[in-house]
Amino acid sequence: MFHELEIYAKQNNVPIMLPEGIDYMTNYIKEHNIKNILEIGTAIGYSAIRMCMVNDEIKVTTIERNKDMYDIAIKNINKYNMNNRINVIFGDALEVDVDGSYDLIFIDAAKSQYIKFFNKYSPLLKDNGTIITDNLNFHGLRENIDSIESKNLRSMMRKLNDYIEFLENNNEYTTEFLNIGDGLGITKKTN
Ligand code: SAH
Ligand code: MG
Repeated sequence: MFHELEIYAKQNNVPIMLPEGIDYMTNYIKEHNIKNILEIGTAIGYSAIRMCMVNDEIKVTTIERNKDMYDIAIKNINKYNMNNRINVIFGDALEVDVDGSYDLIFIDAAKSQYIKFFNKYSPLLKDNGTIITDNLNFHGLRENIDSIESKNLRSMMRKLNDYIEFLENNNEYTTEFLNIGDGLGITKKTN
């Protein structure tokens, strides 16, 4: 049962995907027959484990730069006997070398770096593949950035807006923005 991971995340303030978001994504994986997934931002391994639970053929490569998170993820993945299907890479996603080609790339790490993640990893997307980005609403804070008192938070929200504009203006890719969970971007190569 994955419920214990949700409880752990809540108690330790680990920002795992919201229930609606992970449900949407696992259904998407099922419906689109997705097999190979690249995830940026493992945290405790929750979303990687949930995605692998969709069926036995799914394989996930996931990247995490925080050593504590990485260690917990490895422990959880072993506990769920998924170590043969989930490969956790320890390192900064902007620095590590990753290869392969993927049906789904899931971006769920530092929001200020979303454009960089997209540019680095989108070449690994299969022609018919999908990039899903989490936290595009960022807890509703995006609505009135100027009223946010923290300078760091304001700057991060601006970068998130830059990413949204980047997706909107990208002719090679077409994005649908969904108000599900904390806001999802569903991006596909433009036909
Ligand atoms: N996908 C997870 C939640 C990820 S939370 C789930 O839903 O279960 C975001 C994680 O991204 C954090 O653990 C953070 O350490 C990691 N992260 C942030 N920036 C990163 C980067 N540049 N490279 C690798 N990991 C990063
Ligand atoms: Mg998230």
